Amino acid sequence: NPYGLSGQVALVTGATSGIGRQTAIALAGAGAAVAVNYRDGSRQDAEAVCADIAAAGGTAMPVHADVREEAQVDSMVAETVAHFGTLHILVANAGLERPAPFQDMSLEDWRMVIDVNLTGQFLCTRAAIREFLRRGMQPDISHALGKIVCMSSVHQRIPWAFAANYAASKGGVALLMQSLAQEFAPSRIRVNAIAPGAIRTPINRKAWETDAAMQELLTLMPYGRIGETSDIANAVLWLASDLSDYMTGETLFVDGGMSLYPSFRGAG
Ligand code: NAD
Repeated sequence: NPYGLSGQVALVTGATSGIGRQTAIALAGAGAAVAVNYRDGSRQDAEAVCADIAAAGGTAMPVHADVREEAQVDSMVAETVAHFGTLHILVANAGLERPAPFQDMSLEDWRMVIDVNLTGQFLCTRAAIREFLRRGMQPDISHALGKIVCMSSVHQRIPWAFAANYAASKGGVALLMQSLAQEFAPSRIRVNAIAPGAIRTPINRKAWETDAAMQELLTLMPYGRIGETSDIANAVLWLASDLSDYMTGETLFVDGGMSLYPSFRGAG
């Protein structure tokens, strides 16, 4: 396998659905042992992901935590370390949307999105970095002490009317990621992000499930198709492997050209 992740341990948050689920499967396919995070009420989904991984010859186990909760995140990482020995790769993926016209946006809508999408990444990256530092280098396993991939969005760059909370959370992720990359580069911890465009998952079902919605969506995407979860999982594999060993503090936009101002094509 070109990604060479055997002997490494990965934790994927929000791994019961969409991008996280596909990423957990891809990391296991590349040889990593994978901790599949789920939140309250999703244990069966996590077990199903682990069963799919096992059926394909991989190794995985479900780990519970609501990423907003400090004690739960810390015990999720402790459980992963107790079971698999350590942690090499974190994919901080859990996220949600609570859109609303701004004048009607409740403090609860605001806090929910910031707590999951931004504070959740703070808690998970901190717990992972503590484990990387505790463990120390394993040059036979990876050139890096640890690798973190933060799931951001094109909305770290593209403003999003009616989803100011979401855009603010992803803008926060971008500078959290870069600040961690700067702080921990001397420790050989690499921290990067992925900015997906529109990917076919439950989070944005309304944007793709009818033909009319899909046609509207496609006007935003020069490449002419919606993204699939495998498009993002493939980018995670590269960022998690030594193939990207000299890269840190970057955001990979995987968006079919969505961030290229497609409405300017042919304009003027
Ligand atoms: P999804 O709804 O299919 O998956 C989100 C996952 O996060 C689920 O497994 C859910 O259980 C989990 N989650 C939510 N709150 C949680 C919490 N408090 N604790 C633990 N887990 C929690 O959506 P997706 O599209 O796969 O989204 C994954 C990530 O990708 C998100 O961060 C999202 O913002 C980002 N993203 C998605 C798209 C897209 O078009 N689908 C585009 C850009 C960015």
